[in-house]
Amino acid sequence: MADCIFCKIANHEIDSDFVYEDDQVVAFRDMEPQAPVHFLVVPKKHIPCLDECTEEDKELIAHIMLKIPEIAKSLGITTGYRVVINNGDDAFQTVKHLHFHVLGKRKMTWPPG
Ligand code: AMP
Repeated sequence: MADCIFCKIANHEIDSDFVYEDDQVVAFRDMEPQAPVHFLVVPKKHIPCLDECTEEDKELIAHIMLKIPEIAKSLGITTGYRVVINNGDDAFQTVKHLHFHVLGKRKMTWPPG
């Protein structure tokens, strides 16, 4: 997607603070961190949101879920972290390219805001 900021980051057209990359995903630090460690895991494939995932994406989603603990550990998160997907306007999804927030190194509260 030509005008998608996360596609541009995934294609290295825009620099970012990358913490992980492979053939399917990139992970980089959020520019407005909500925790001492806050990174985003983003599929290289442009999928607008969780609602738009299909059967075809299930291996990709499983891949992401298995990579998250690996990346979290590599960044020194040892006592827990939160994974968040904002899907749609009510959830305050601001970037229309599927991404997984990973927040750690602080005590979280529940319910989320
Ligand atoms: P969401 O509200 O779930 O769509 O989250 C989008 C996230 O992307 C926000 O936390 C932003 O701070 C983050 N973000 C937007 N643009 C960039 C960027 N260029 N580099 C790093 N993080 C970004």
